Amino acid sequence: MQTIAIIGAGTMGRGIAQSAALAGYRVILYDVADDLLAQALDQIKASIDKGVELGKTAAAAAERAQQALQLTTDLAEAAAADMVIEAAPEKLDLKRQLFATLDAAAPPQTILASNTSSLSINALAGATGRADRFLGLHFFNPAHIMKLVEVIRGEFTSESTLAAAVDFARSLGKTPVLCKDTPAFIVNRVARPFYGEALRLLGENAANAATIDQLVRSVGFRMGPFELIDLVGCDVNLAVTQSVYEATFQDPKYRPHPIQKRMVESGRLGRKSGHGFYDYNEG
Ligand code: NAD
Repeated sequence: MQTIAIIGAGTMGRGIAQSAALAGYRVILYDVADDLLAQALDQIKASIDKGVELGKTAAAAAERAQQALQLTTDLAEAAAADMVIEAAPEKLDLKRQLFATLDAAAPPQTILASNTSSLSINALAGATGRADRFLGLHFFNPAHIMKLVEVIRGEFTSESTLAAAVDFARSLGKTPVLCKDTPAFIVNRVARPFYGEALRLLGENAANAATIDQLVRSVGFRMGPFELIDLVGCDVNLAVTQSVYEATFQDPKYRPHPIQKRMVESGRLGRKSGHGFYDYNEG
């Protein structure tokens, strides 16, 4: 594989693009508007430069990675890559539509992958005519730093597709873990009660968000639940919770909390909007 296309230049698309470019791939980054792509490119370049400053990336490798990034708002151009990784919003209809279009435009050998946190890989693969060359490739946030990648096998994913995806993840310096297509896979399934119980505590006024975060950190977690929701994005967190709740036939332990809905309705999406459970406007 030489060329990787990333669909969606948001939080995750940027991190995956950065990892792939630094690993020597040519990267085509797609989004729906030029200004979103320009913002994404600035942020990726700044992040690569920070790696050089910190001595983690060689200057020549950083230069090559920055040259390897190509931006496009033309989905057909992205579909021409050897592997396409979709990191668009967590909405089943939107993703199915995207994959149907990508499938129609891509050469037969192109592998299609989704970075979905919670949607069924089979339901996404079903929108294409290439379920054998389709799988889940679930990176974690921040994607250019976190090592874990869940490689999710759909019902009809071929062995060679799985092997190519595992090799690809390793070539990025990641640690791939094979999973089946179960609701929310492994990590997000385990993480649901982490968020859910903290939201219930907050809803009952047991303590405020900062106190709950501090307590959770004090027992060894790197981040508390509310800091993590702000990093993930309150909208993404709500969408994933809703989709796990539906996928488990409304198992009450996964029920979304009204606080999540209120945060999204009021535009408090976390770090990406400058305000979530915490205020980021002062940096
Ligand atoms: P985001 O909101 O930061 O970015 C989504 C991007 O998709 C935006 O740039 C948006 O302009 C673009 N977009 C909107 N409509 C589109 C379309 N029709 N076609 C292509 N792009 C479109 O979201 P994110 O946090 O990067 O999440 C993307 C995916 O990754 C979701 O499936 C999410 O569940 C998954 N994910 C998120 C995290 C996280 O911590 N945020 C972690 C792992 C996986």
